[in-house]
Amino acid sequence: MKERLELSIPHSLCERAQGLVATTPEGRMAAVISWAEANVERQEGPFAAGVFDLDTGACISAGVNRVLSSGCSVAHAEIMALMLAQQELSCVNLAEKGRYVLTTSAQPCSQCFGAVPWSGVVSMEFGASREDVEAIGFDEAPCPENWRELLEERNITIMGPVRQTEAAAVLQRYAQQGGNIY
Ligand SMILES: [Zn+2]
Repeated sequence: MKERLELSIPHSLCERAQGLVATTPEGRMAAVISWAEANVERQEGPFAAGVFDLDTGACISAGVNRVLSSGCSVAHAEIMALMLAQQELSCVNLAEKGRYVLTTSAQPCSQCFGAVPWSGVVSMEFGASREDVEAIGFDEAPCPENWRELLEERNITIMGPVRQTEAAAVLQRYAQQGGNIY
């Protein structure tokens, strides 16, 4: 029986994100979409996310979908980015360290929606909509209709869709090249 698990993002992504500063939702989304594009080239799920410091724009972590390479159904981009940010800042609740935003290339699925409140981010911005994701066949699982309100009630600001056309285009490209839909 295994007692240890390992998850990682590609080294090249870490190098790209290191030192990145993006102070606007559009700027952060452009970066995240480019990471999702690179993940499509790697034949991995067409999703990326990052955690940024809202005050300085500094990129704290970068995540991409690693479900196929890690053989782990929970290794979604948002989860990778949140876990890496928490490890980076040595803090389970990011709100204790500052004001952080989760920028994700697509509206979170039910799993990632559930992970947002406990992460301590004060804001979330997304690119493609749930409909864009489902249009290429991904199962997003049930998510409350009023998901946005539910997060805002917990003082998490939601922005999106941001750069939706570009974000949705990455999903389309993945589908066109015959990407694995799981
Ligand atoms: Zn997810």
